[in-house]
Amino acid sequence: MLLEDLRTHVLDTALLLPKYGLVWMAGGTVCARDAQTGYVVVTPSGLDYERLTPDDMIVTDMDMNLVEGKYRPSVALNLWTGFMRSRPELTAVVHTHSPYATAFSVAYQSIPVITETMADWFGQPVLVTRYLSVEDPEFSTLPIEVMGSGYAVLLGNHGPITVGKTIAHALERAVTLEEAARTYSIARMINVPVTLTEEQACASFDYYHNRYGQKKS
Ligand SMILES: [Zn+2]
Repeated sequence: MLLEDLRTHVLDTALLLPKYGLVWMAGGTVCARDAQTGYVVVTPSGLDYERLTPDDMIVTDMDMNLVEGKYRPSVALNLWTGFMRSRPELTAVVHTHSPYATAFSVAYQSIPVITETMADWFGQPVLVTRYLSVEDPEFSTLPIEVMGSGYAVLLGNHGPITVGKTIAHALERAVTLEEAARTYSIARMINVPVTLTEEQACASFDYYHNRYGQKKS
């Protein structure tokens, strides 16, 4: 079996999504690229992760050609690989339907940088795309444009996508984004929230990734 360690890491991460309250049943996606082969490992869509084994993960090349796997990769794989193609430093993509972040995608409101933790992991607001069905000609390009140099984007009427240089970072961003969306929702009920300025957000991101502890992004 090709890439057994990466298959196991991808499945283990997918199993954490429901534990963190980011997806239910078979929702969500974890996709990661192997640095040596350039192959991509992705979770099969529509199947309950609890019943899957590493052998059920799908291995493709960056052009979505099946390399090894029992299941066919979903059409959305073109979007997951698109992030890694446009930003070669990225090796992982996590997609969830976490409720607070998804609520912002339904309300078509971006999530501003509202906490230091959000600044540390994103450094900029998280924007929303227009609604894109998987058959939309811009499905695999517009989210990449909207994310720009950031680390997350909200698919309109759908849910968040986060990316990272490692699977752990993409997962941590999925959790942090949901937490920030929830905090922002609560803060708006209390008063008009104060968001961090662009300068504050950039400074916090830079400090966290370049000078604090181990380097992250
Ligand atoms: Zn989805």
